[in-house]
Amino acid sequence: MTSPQTDPRSLARALSNQNLIGGDLVPAASGRTFEVIDPATMSVIGEAPFSEQADVDAAVVAANAARHEWARTPATERGQMITECGRRLEEHADEMANLITLETGKAIRTESRIEANLLREVWEFHGGLGSELKGETIPYKPGMLPLTIREPLGVVGAIIPWNVPVYLMGLKICPALVAGNTVVLKSAEEAPLCILRAAQIMSEVLPPGVLNLLAGYGPECGAPIAAHPDVHKVSFTGSVAAGRSVYANAASHLAPVVLELGGKSPMIVYEDADLERAVAGAVTGMRFTRQGQSCSASSRMFVHASLHDEFIERMADAVDAMVMGDPFDEATDMGSIISPQQFETVNRYLSLARELPHATLRECSALPMDPRFADGLFVRPVILSGVTNDDIVCREEIFGPVASVISWTDEVSVLEQANDTEYGLCGTVWTRDIGRAMRAVERIDAGFVQINQNLVVQPGLPYGGFRNSGLGQEACREAMLEHCTKRKTIIINTE
Ligand code: ADP
Repeated sequence: MTSPQTDPRSLARALSNQNLIGGDLVPAASGRTFEVIDPATMSVIGEAPFSEQADVDAAVVAANAARHEWARTPATERGQMITECGRRLEEHADEMANLITLETGKAIRTESRIEANLLREVWEFHGGLGSELKGETIPYKPGMLPLTIREPLGVVGAIIPWNVPVYLMGLKICPALVAGNTVVLKSAEEAPLCILRAAQIMSEVLPPGVLNLLAGYGPECGAPIAAHPDVHKVSFTGSVAAGRSVYANAASHLAPVVLELGGKSPMIVYEDADLERAVAGAVTGMRFTRQGQSCSASSRMFVHASLHDEFIERMADAVDAMVMGDPFDEATDMGSIISPQQFETVNRYLSLARELPHATLRECSALPMDPRFADGLFVRPVILSGVTNDDIVCREEIFGPVASVISWTDEVSVLEQANDTEYGLCGTVWTRDIGRAMRAVERIDAGFVQINQNLVVQPGLPYGGFRNSGLGQEACREAMLEHCTKRKTIIINTE
């Protein structure tokens, strides 16, 4: 068995330039590669195959070749294999955490280790769903027995982002696999190596061809997966623009999709809220430890006017106390932004915010002083106040450490503003009055709404957005049944 590796840089080099197709580790058919970067230092840590149509075709052929045998494997046995994969990933948790940090610049203590330590739970949860693939019998007419059975769809294409890469890989591929589908997975171009390592560990348990992995870019590798006529379903997490393209490509052969897209989630703080809890919730909700790079970030904070100034002071103090720097240092709370492109995007929004005459921009924490990180993609967290819900920084998803705080006094108006967005992913409400909280929850048009807390997506809790935040849900038994199987009706004439 592959034993855990301690040095992430030598592991990254060893993992370089490999796809996993039909159980074999192979380079791209064209031989093309792209560089994998450590964004905290901007050093090259390895390379990955630049996969294109020919590689997609090969992976889809391998997945189709494996799918009948896999579908015939008893569901509980498939579940046991998924659970075993989770156990092995747990054995490699330190190594996974190191690789995630190296590729994404996320701080090891506050982010990557937490992600790596959650993997077993995701895999185990879905492994347990092997016994849930039940059908129904339907009372109809004497002499007839209608029943339904659940069958796998075939080949599932899964396309993932880089922000919580291995966790999201699990949420996508585990339900598909346990339901009896085979998978063609595409990693994000920013974080291909941790996904390859996880796939390699899984391939020691799964039969060849059941899980295939390609590294590559969206247009050249993601789009051909979605458009492939022998891919029977596409599960995607990423931006709205790419999600639309996936939907259109999948429509060419009527493949169903699950889309987990962006957000601009409201956090509504009432005047009777527990301020200390609300501030702590704002800091975690904004995902400052992940440099704000989360689709569920509470990036629009509507704070009652009576608490507004103190809320900002306390949040700024809390964020000021966070250490930005070497992602591998145990003392570090915040690491770097993922890529030069994303760094530029965040800075562009900050420039736009600086041009707003009514906005106050408060930069917190401090950039790392260590010269090793001079070229790293670090951005100081920012709290914007005085802004309105109509400002561009409150309308568009920044995917960076930028929180907008909007003062309010009228409940009807604040609930209208909360919904005045193209998104509908998450929302939080902070009040000690449950009647008021439920009023707000009923009004918020979003798929995942919490009162007085700010959990992130968890196995077992249905997760998915409304409106431009996506289509369909993940992370629960019902989603596995609905999105990873098809239901066949059978009628037996018993006379
Ligand atoms: P982000 O802005 O978070 O990088 P993207 O939506 O660009 O989000 O990327 C998320 C994933 O989607 C990545 O794996 C990326 O390669 C892939 N991707 C991007 N564009 C497309 C596309 N047109 N079709 C399929 N996959 C895509």
